[in-house]
Amino acid sequence: MGRNCPICNTKEKEKLFDIRFAFGEEHPLAKKNDIVCCNTCGFVFADNDLNQDSYDRYYKELNSYSEADSIKYTEDEELFPKFYFSLLRKFIAINESVFDVGCGDGGLLSILKQNGYGNVYGLDPSADSIRTLERKGVNGICGSVFEIAALDLPKFDVVISTGVLEHIFDVDGYIKNVLAAVKSDGKIIVVVPAVEGFEIKYTDLPNYFNHEHINFFSQQTLDRLFAGYGYYDISNEQSRLVTEPNGEYILYGVYSKKNVDTHEIEKDDSSRKSVLNYLEKYSERKKEKEEKYKKLSLDKYILWGTGALATQFLAEFPEISDKIEFCIDNNKTKQGTRFAGKMIYGSDYLKSQNINLPIIICSMKNGDAIVKQIVELGLKNECIIL
Ligand SMILES: [Zn+2]
Repeated sequence: MGRNCPICNTKEKEKLFDIRFAFGEEHPLAKKNDIVCCNTCGFVFADNDLNQDSYDRYYKELNSYSEADSIKYTEDEELFPKFYFSLLRKFIAINESVFDVGCGDGGLLSILKQNGYGNVYGLDPSADSIRTLERKGVNGICGSVFEIAALDLPKFDVVISTGVLEHIFDVDGYIKNVLAAVKSDGKIIVVVPAVEGFEIKYTDLPNYFNHEHINFFSQQTLDRLFAGYGYYDISNEQSRLVTEPNGEYILYGVYSKKNVDTHEIEKDDSSRKSVLNYLEKYSERKKEKEEKYKKLSLDKYILWGTGALATQFLAEFPEISDKIEFCIDNNKTKQGTRFAGKMIYGSDYLKSQNINLPIIICSMKNGDAIVKQIVELGLKNECIIL
């Protein structure tokens, strides 16, 4: 397929596996991604024939982050922003200007502001996110990171990018735009999921490999990417792998321009090894899931959850799409649209219709919370968590 290695730009790569998605014809993203490993540098990434425009269209038209944030079942919505703040604050001086690219609802920026950082600014493609950010008293601009170089913004001391780089098809274009926003002696702080953690902390496949996550960095490959632009980590930490409050591993780097003698960075073997070890665990779980699903042999059911897990589940078992009566999703932006050709409704519809079909719950993290919601609605439907 079409993607050169986003880090070293070579073509030769080894396919590790592929993932399929039950997208309709109109969906801008690929129905299949090959997960490949670069033969030259060892970087693991998703390969398909798309380009950045397809992803821009997807995030503009179909992405539902800002809505999804309001329906998370977490107790403390500031849990993750607080965690990121405690992780990164030592790298940001109180008088430095900060620009968070892909800031979402501005959780991190608003905590920085509460802690005395006076010059903080956000960028996000979602107008809703920017409105939420401004309600929190933080200034922001609505736009794509690929527009930064053209926006003629002032230069910042610190540019932060958390949970963005793993989504980017055109990695080179992204880095060049980020570099356009930072002062020549400034810092770029990057946080991404750590591929080294995949083999340690098991989660369902779509949590790590889904249609949105297409770059899988290790500390070595992330450093190699930035070294290609003359930027090196200045954090002075041996390992920059840490666990998030949910136990998943992330990786950070604090990159600054340095004149160092160019040296060959060795090929990374940890990424491929971690992914293959993860796959071994996954195939065992997949067998269990298949047995569970085959025992069901239902004629009709209701599907609750139309996110990444459902997208991959239906692609693996296409015969069950026909058995879906309709879908339920708490995400209001999805209600009234279709998934796998079936209508998506809110839970109020389920209550009003009083249809006693079994409910298959397709949610990676909120399965138990959804069962609780069904009980609280007073419904007696049988629930199966996948
Ligand atoms: Zn490479």
